[in-house]
Amino acid sequence: GKITSLSIQEQRKSLPIYKLRDQLVQAVRDVSTSRLTIELTYQNQILVVVGDTGSGKTTQMAQYLAEEGFLERGRLGCTQPRKVAAVSVAKRVSEEVGCRLGAEVGYTIRFEDMTSPETKIKYMTDGMLLRELLVDPDCSKYSVLMLDEAHERTIATDVLFGLLKKACKRRPDLKLICTSATLDAAKFATYFWGCPIFTIPGRTFPVETLYTKEPEPDYLEASLITILQIHLMEPAGDILLFLTGQEEIDTACEVLYERVKALGPQVPELIILPVYAALPSEMQSRIFEPPPPGARKVVIATNIAETSITIDGIYYVIDPGFAKQNAYDPKLGMDSLIPISQAQARQRSGRAGRTGPGKCYRLYTEIAYRNEMLPNPIPEIQRTNLASTILTLKAMGINDLISFDFMDPPPAATMLTALEQLYALGALDDEGLLTRIGRKMADFPLDPPLSKMLIKSVDYGCSEEALTIVAMLQAGGQVYYRPKDKQAQADAKKAKFHQPEGDLLTLLAVYNGWKASKFSNPWCFENFIQTRAMKTAQDVRKQLIVSCGTNYNRVRMAICSGFFRNAAKKDPTEGFKTLVEGTPVSIHPSSAIFQRPPEWCVYYELVLTAKEYMHQVTVIEPKWLSEVAPTFFRVADQNKISKRKASEKIEPLFDRFATNKDDWRLSKQKRAT
Ligand code: ADP
Ligand code: MG
Repeated sequence: GKITSLSIQEQRKSLPIYKLRDQLVQAVRDVSTSRLTIELTYQNQILVVVGDTGSGKTTQMAQYLAEEGFLERGRLGCTQPRKVAAVSVAKRVSEEVGCRLGAEVGYTIRFEDMTSPETKIKYMTDGMLLRELLVDPDCSKYSVLMLDEAHERTIATDVLFGLLKKACKRRPDLKLICTSATLDAAKFATYFWGCPIFTIPGRTFPVETLYTKEPEPDYLEASLITILQIHLMEPAGDILLFLTGQEEIDTACEVLYERVKALGPQVPELIILPVYAALPSEMQSRIFEPPPPGARKVVIATNIAETSITIDGIYYVIDPGFAKQNAYDPKLGMDSLIPISQAQARQRSGRAGRTGPGKCYRLYTEIAYRNEMLPNPIPEIQRTNLASTILTLKAMGINDLISFDFMDPPPAATMLTALEQLYALGALDDEGLLTRIGRKMADFPLDPPLSKMLIKSVDYGCSEEALTIVAMLQAGGQVYYRPKDKQAQADAKKAKFHQPEGDLLTLLAVYNGWKASKFSNPWCFENFIQTRAMKTAQDVRKQLIVSCGTNYNRVRMAICSGFFRNAAKKDPTEGFKTLVEGTPVSIHPSSAIFQRPPEWCVYYELVLTAKEYMHQVTVIEPKWLSEVAPTFFRVADQNKISKRKASEKIEPLFDRFATNKDDWRLSKQKRAT
């Protein structure tokens, strides 16, 4: 309603970045006006923005640039290291703009695309932008790219640094913005040819930092005790606790809930809210709601709440000092717990000082902070398996990895291990060049061993099964539900799925059981299976089928690039209408897709018998049209392409290509018929 939209606009104006709106817009505008030398031109395409978390970088900058007309020729893409952040921010910005999510403002994360041809502001994971560069190295659809949370130094962001630096050289009209919450900015600026740095002054209150006297043997227990102490003794103000992952957070929430209940009704209400990547989005929006009067809110989050998501009203932060770090080293396991760095610890305490003076409880000693923690986290590229990254780079034609412009190059040994792994998988040949299989593997948004497994499953005639297994693995491994009070029942149900051939085939049996129940929720409940994980697996599976069909997609795009003028759209009432002329047409009954007509198709030829029939029809995606024929369809929304608009574009083309009057007349005539 009117009141909420008003207050949303007021909120926008109250952010620290708002006072600098015009200066910031000017700084971005400046980035392509001064052209002294070639080097300086590149330098001026890039802007580094530093500002405290919560100052409004992620949500506001994109809107300012859209409002100032920067996005008339192309989109703004804003990357996030975490998919939850991309989704949450896109939702928030679509509310601020006042549009449906997926319209002007949308997001793309792995296995989920919430954008449309009209999307102007697109939030996405850095991994997704990297995948887009695979097919479009010049980022031709974008006017502005914002590498947000650059201080996180994920592999994808680090690789994007190098690739986008190159793209800037090829595209002088492209603007690149790197934002960072920390003062590493100078390092970024040096890397980008000494580009300018724009600083947004923070608005923070002092935070009192408390350490434990002794190291804590059990940080989870210590965290819960600290929450209860704060809740019972400290003045009003919400609490933020940093834990390391979903399972731990769910357990903490359950135990905390029981303990508060046990304290009795005289204790004020404590609202417990978990935050992690796999949380359904309805839950995620709840963390931003203020608690009712008299109640206190405690948010238990992964390090996503360090910088990517800002929750207002936090006065108390509890920091056990650990984070989960993904390391693909099989000897270490998939993930390992590591102590955070001093920079992260400071960032965490800072969360307590956004609304007023706060307190941060560090569940480690001051000596540990000073002597055992690294000043800064090690960039991901220097500590994880690079196989997937190298595969992507090779697929982009970047073979000389040694001279790739990394901000911090990965250790040579790490590169070698990854190259060996890719060679063993058959993705690289003796010369280290990509093989056909390697190229195919690069098309999957998966780790190389999983892609290889999918590709080979086609030869073994078991691609359906392999797809299911990969999808179940991507669902996060949280398939079985084992509540504390019903463990025996849960185990008995699970045993019914057990396959003598092992756990992955057991996952397959679970999925097939669910499928046989027509994907029913009660079936999951009866069998102690997590419905949410199953739904994720189902979505991932659908998306993977799309990736498997990548080659078909390419064939279809190729067809489309020749036959875009023969595009037709399903008519709401009956049959189809051709896109250019608006003529009513039908799919011929002999067509493979007669029974299941798509929304959009292109035909090879029209044959007039009883009706005007389309022959040799191919299903297409409407968004391909503007890609394959940008001069022909220069309209943002394909749904709105009218005959008039399309023919406006035809006119100049005919005039330009008609070499003599006869030709010209001939073409006019052709058009008339
Ligand atoms: P930055 O990127 O500088 O850290 P953001 O643009 O993410 O800052 O956030 C600006 C403000 O918008 C914050 O104060 C935050 O509380 C608010 N905000 C962000 N996302 C949401 C949301 N989903 N719901 C409510 N408020 C939000
Ligand atoms: Mg941000």
